[in-house]
Amino acid sequence: MTERNWAFAISGKSRTHWPMSACLLRLTNVIKRYAVPRGGGGDDGLSVLAGVTLEVGRRETLAIVGPSGSGKSTLLQIIGTLDRPTSGEVLLDGRNLAALDDVEVAAVRNRQIGFVFQSHFLLPQCTVIENVLVPTLASPSPGLPATLSPSDGERDGVRGRPTESAAARAARLLKRVGLGERLHHRPGQLSGGERQRVAVVRALINQPQLLLADEPTGALDHASANSLGRLLVELNREEGVTLIVVTHAMELAKRMGRVLELRDGKLENMA
Ligand code: ADP
Ligand code: MG
Repeated sequence: MTERNWAFAISGKSRTHWPMSACLLRLTNVIKRYAVPRGGGGDDGLSVLAGVTLEVGRRETLAIVGPSGSGKSTLLQIIGTLDRPTSGEVLLDGRNLAALDDVEVAAVRNRQIGFVFQSHFLLPQCTVIENVLVPTLASPSPGLPATLSPSDGERDGVRGRPTESAAARAARLLKRVGLGERLHHRPGQLSGGERQRVAVVRALINQPQLLLADEPTGALDHASANSLGRLLVELNREEGVTLIVVTHAMELAKRMGRVLELRDGKLENMA
């Protein structure tokens, strides 16, 4: 079965309960409302997500599309533990995110999730490889894999590269995305497309299970956007990471195995 067919099969409506091992992410009736204070007192609630239910398989690629203001970023931030839903359940790798305290949530965010945004958010005073290594500096937490750090040296359990240090992984991935000669350059010396590729490598450095990208090509020219889209899908395969991309660019969305549309606060299959 091709990857695309596999993604289609697992998204089929009849398949509501998967073996836990196949399902990485499960959202059940996620609702998000923002309080909007009314002039004379009281509150006009703004309903952004009106009951989102979603299952995403390991190594799947998924695009979520919808017009500006439809709640795409809100949904991605809830999936990425940057925000909490008003109600509903989010399970990541079988763990209910609502049941975790702030420290545990921060550890999940650091180890299991990688983020790419429209802006690269690279530190201008740090080199390319230093920027990539920033997420490895967080301290280890119980119950989760040991943190990679440049001084750790060798470490077991790195997917596909059992004894690779964080610095070696950073250098390998930077080379993989065509930046092997730019490790010690600063972000200001790179093009927009190159900076965004650094941001992608930084998102992958801790070997997350889930890569979340919010309009990752939104600030790029057409050619750079195309090559970044291709790169994201290639890295999904090579690194075995689940990829969820939020975008209003159909060209990018169509690269993903499955495309869902956020409309009126709910996810629907694209017509
Ligand atoms: P998208 O990413 O699809 O453009 P967003 O998720 O950013 O949409 O926003 C969805 C809606 O939620 C918008 O109407 C936005 O104004 C509103 N919104 C987002 N964050 C907040 C907030 N913190 N307080 C109030 N409203 C918000
Ligand atoms: Mg947005």
